[in-house]
Amino acid sequence: MRATMIHAPGDIRFEQRPDPRITEPADAIVRTVATCVCGSDLWSYRGINPVGDPHPMGHEYVGVVEEAGRDVDTVRPGQLVIGSFIASDNTCPHCRYGFQTACMRREAMTTCQAEYIRIPQAGGTLVAVPGDPDPALLPSLLTLSDVMGTGWYAAVAAQVKPGGTVAVVGDGAVGLCGVLAAKELGADRIIAMSRHHDRQKLALDFGATDLVTERGDEGVARIMDLTHGVGADSVLECVGTAESSAQARRATRPGGSVGFVGLPHGVEIDGGDLFGSMVGLRGGPAPVRRFLPDLIDRVLSGRMAPGKVFDLTLPLSEVAEAYRAMDERRAIKVLLQP
Ligand SMILES: [Zn+2]
Repeated sequence: MRATMIHAPGDIRFEQRPDPRITEPADAIVRTVATCVCGSDLWSYRGINPVGDPHPMGHEYVGVVEEAGRDVDTVRPGQLVIGSFIASDNTCPHCRYGFQTACMRREAMTTCQAEYIRIPQAGGTLVAVPGDPDPALLPSLLTLSDVMGTGWYAAVAAQVKPGGTVAVVGDGAVGLCGVLAAKELGADRIIAMSRHHDRQKLALDFGATDLVTERGDEGVARIMDLTHGVGADSVLECVGTAESSAQARRATRPGGSVGFVGLPHGVEIDGGDLFGSMVGLRGGPAPVRRFLPDLIDRVLSGRMAPGKVFDLTLPLSEVAEAYRAMDERRAIKVLLQP
């Protein structure tokens, strides 16, 4: 098969690799139907995370089960399936508590921008899409593998409630999905922080009621203005920088909550500030598996169409161009199809 490999920062190649095989009875092999490039893939592409030896890339996928190991009893060959970026057994104490990204048998998915993927713990990891979904729904189904699942978790972690006021820091695909999640969870007011016209448009389409273009102190001041000096009930932090993290905490009302899903780079929190703020914090790698059945229903029923975050579709063989387009901000998110 052919698969995406990174050889060095900026050097993405689509090349011949050995076909994946079932190595454990809990494995399955999936034929990729759609995959994509994640904002977090750019950390390696830009050399911010060291690349080291050439290695495969990709952790988002929708595919068809080709072959299932003898311990896989929840999905079968021929089914269209979605899984999270972390494989999980869905049976251990952390999984049963709804935190499948902390599964005691977790494995990070790292080989998904490929024609075929080996899925460990496939019975726990994969969720079959019922029926024979309209191919037009494929982009939305693909977002559930990471960005929409992560935006959803940010909203749940920030305790978004019906009637609540929500602020979303970050206008990447996850932040935009966070806006959509807040809307679905019944928020009354959704303040999206964005300074890019195309992303503002999508945020409004997804349910944002206000846009804030300022950042840092000015961004916090603007949210305070919009909430009559109170702060937001729930803030979704979808960036992960020191500035965005501070901005999220300072824009939250006392007793409110921050859901943080941006991979932290240089974030430090002062204990005294946190103590005084009375703000609740929960975040980390989103337990997407918990939300998959519900989110699949919401997409199939037409309630939500998170697939709009994809503004470019390319053949998988042009994966190098997909990375360039996202790196140069010519695209919000690129869908790849073999
Ligand atoms: Zn588990």
